Amino acid sequence: MKEPFIPVTSIASGIGQEVMPDLYYFPVQIVNVIFAGTHDEWVLIDAVMPNSADKIIDEAEKRFGEGTRPRAIILTHGHFDHTGSLKELLERWKVPVCAHILELPYLTGETDYPEPDSSVGGGLVSGMSPMFPTEALHLENQVSPLPEEGTVPFMNGWRWIHTPGHTPGHVSFFRENDASLIAGDAFVTVQQESLYKVMTQKQEISGPPKYLTTDWEAAYESVKKLNDLNPQLAVTGHGLPMSGQLLGTSLVKLIDRFHDIAVPEHGKYVDRDD
Ligand SMILES: [Zn+2]
Ligand SMILES: [Zn+2]
Repeated sequence: MKEPFIPVTSIASGIGQEVMPDLYYFPVQIVNVIFAGTHDEWVLIDAVMPNSADKIIDEAEKRFGEGTRPRAIILTHGHFDHTGSLKELLERWKVPVCAHILELPYLTGETDYPEPDSSVGGGLVSGMSPMFPTEALHLENQVSPLPEEGTVPFMNGWRWIHTPGHTPGHVSFFRENDASLIAGDAFVTVQQESLYKVMTQKQEISGPPKYLTTDWEAAYESVKKLNDLNPQLAVTGHGLPMSGQLLGTSLVKLIDRFHDIAVPEHGKYVDRDD
């Protein structure tokens, strides 16, 4: 599998932040991973870009102590920028991986993701997207589906929410008691197509990254579903965490103007009649 170095990073790269006592997000280059849980029991959510396993292991050991291992790695979806270091991490940690059942074909060598559409979004990250690998991973017996009843392994109080559109088996995670949301790429808080905005992490609600999203109708329904939960804090796959009133008004704006803000004007995954 080709493992290109994607020459983009952001000012936030390498600077983690505890957004809740048991929720720590850590940006690597242009994508976030999350350590959910405490020293006794934690999971890693997503596995960033290729060649970043050491950074994640170092950060985990800083937070939880030397030799620490998560109980599992749980994926919002299987895109390369969320799974690039998965193989290396598994070699080191030997822990189970969980993802939505509809995402499993992309993780077990059955199906490749569609090619990114570099024509959408107009920005430099979109322009680089043909470099992004789309080949399925081969996790076979290391990956299992998330429990049907909606619970999340090793994450008490959380449930997974199916939020397709960006990918068929995309999920977000929600905790009722403090209304915390881990949104993955269902929506993001940076305009991911723009290299400048990605580098500076200018906070701006956006739909899922355009160059990889294939079903915009489902993506819209997914944002509505998440907004209905009335989240008070959102950690997204790209961009800085967002909370409180800013999150509320941003989500309403995104829903009201979804076609202007999120959906590309043209592109191979767009079928617009306006
Ligand atoms: Zn993605
Ligand atoms: Zn992503």
